[in-house]
Amino acid sequence: MPFLRLIFVLALVLSCSTTPKADLIVYGRVWTGDSANPWAGGIAIRGDTILAVGDSAAVASHGGPDTRQIGIPGGFVTPGFMDDHVHLFTGGFQLTSVDLRDADTPAEFTRRIKAFVGRLKPGEWVLGGVWDHEKWPGTPLPDRAWIDSVTPDNPVFILRLDGHMALANTRALAAARMDRSTPEIPGGSIVRRADGELTGVLKDEAMNPVYAAIPTPSAEQLDSALAGAMRHAASLGVTAVASMVTGWEEIAALRRARERGALSLRVANYLTLASWRSAADSLKSAGPGDDWIRTAGVKGFVDGSLGSTTALMSEPYRDAPGTRGLFVTPEDSIRQWIGAADSAGLQVVVHAIGDRANDLLLDIFDSVATAHGARDRRFRVEHAQHLRAAEIPRFAALGVIPSMQPYHAADDGRWASKRIGPELIRGTYAFRSLLDAGARLIFGSDWYVAPLDPRLGLEAAVTRQTLDGVNPGGWVPEEKITLEEALRAYTVSNAYGVFAEATRGMLKSGYRADFVVFDRDLTAIAPDSLSDARVMLTVAGGRIVWDQVKVP
Ligand SMILES: [Zn+2]
Repeated sequence: MPFLRLIFVLALVLSCSTTPKADLIVYGRVWTGDSANPWAGGIAIRGDTILAVGDSAAVASHGGPDTRQIGIPGGFVTPGFMDDHVHLFTGGFQLTSVDLRDADTPAEFTRRIKAFVGRLKPGEWVLGGVWDHEKWPGTPLPDRAWIDSVTPDNPVFILRLDGHMALANTRALAAARMDRSTPEIPGGSIVRRADGELTGVLKDEAMNPVYAAIPTPSAEQLDSALAGAMRHAASLGVTAVASMVTGWEEIAALRRARERGALSLRVANYLTLASWRSAADSLKSAGPGDDWIRTAGVKGFVDGSLGSTTALMSEPYRDAPGTRGLFVTPEDSIRQWIGAADSAGLQVVVHAIGDRANDLLLDIFDSVATAHGARDRRFRVEHAQHLRAAEIPRFAALGVIPSMQPYHAADDGRWASKRIGPELIRGTYAFRSLLDAGARLIFGSDWYVAPLDPRLGLEAAVTRQTLDGVNPGGWVPEEKITLEEALRAYTVSNAYGVFAEATRGMLKSGYRADFVVFDRDLTAIAPDSLSDARVMLTVAGGRIVWDQVKVP
């Protein structure tokens, strides 16, 4: 009997290992991201791993009595979208805060704040907001006088959508002990009225005193922001993000979600460059983590943004000739911290928007790499927004990754030409030129700054239409890329951007089961209707995290 039982068990093990049964099979047109085998008719997964990607007969052979099998007529499958630049928790908080993104008059701006404050307790802060004064042509920057009378009991500190300036009301300024006697702050700018009084608008580093006065969110508040952010990501087909974190408390919230079995999004965390030592210590003592929660590296800033006229340019702004932008971090510190973080084995990613900021950062990356010797370090320039022709080939030559956000092009394209001249406009969001020069282009949203939705990013990269509808043929149309190139940036290349290409970014046997199913073939629809495609199913690590298949 024991012998017979052994034979039986062996036979069972053998049959299982030769034809393992799938938990889930999805049939449809599959874009795999694997250039050796880019198209398939279905995908079979088991546990958190892809069993097979192939024609429908090949994947069907993995079906068993317990396999869920899904076929969506006309459906389209891609690897799970990765977003290589988000502010995950700020984005999560923004989901439940006042929404000013499309407030298109100052009166509407005030009305929405008034309505929102009505739901709060006295003393509660109003944060987020993400307003855009470019929606109010001819109107100067907002002033606390617009909102003081409707917010007598609540401090308000609401961001412009680029995160590089904010409006504080009088209560928030008082909490930060800022008034007309406050001196200028290096790396920032305090906007004043003609009489020297503060308007409440603070740019870049000048925002810090108010940030310091905002109570830190509780663990419960962080948990609920994360839950909202994860639901939002799943609904959009986003299965992994690179998160620019503000501190360890965000990583602690990710760990709590994981302990509850609720983590549905893979997060590579980038701590601030200034805190490189704490990131390095953690790397040494706890290791980098795994492919759900990872301490990936550090993120710093060279300059501000074009929208706030703080991006560091080689020429004065056309509409603000008194400035060429500013260093958000002193040049010496940037250089020193990048060197130290690189020595500690951290991946270093740095924000640079203006042409001068990009040029300088490429110089620093070059000199650090030369001094420290060859290593797979994958330096990234976050945004790489305005490049001179001579800077474009340097990305490929130095192996530096341009980490770009196509939706910003659709947004900034409305007004960028009033700030910068035609030569710089040509090198603005230079997707095509960077790819042609051999750079490995990666994509993200910069959520909360822009919507998290990858469909909007794809559409912006492929059409380069601007949000105002003024450029139907595309703004700087020479820089358009194809849909497949844009998909590649969001998947295969984004995996490379966070050192995850050995297991993610492609649909391939043995890779992680992270994928999205759309209701229509993205390659067969008009590029300006990409954002109409519906996300039917999102699978992260083999788990269905968004399911619209049964919903009519
Ligand atoms: Zn950002």
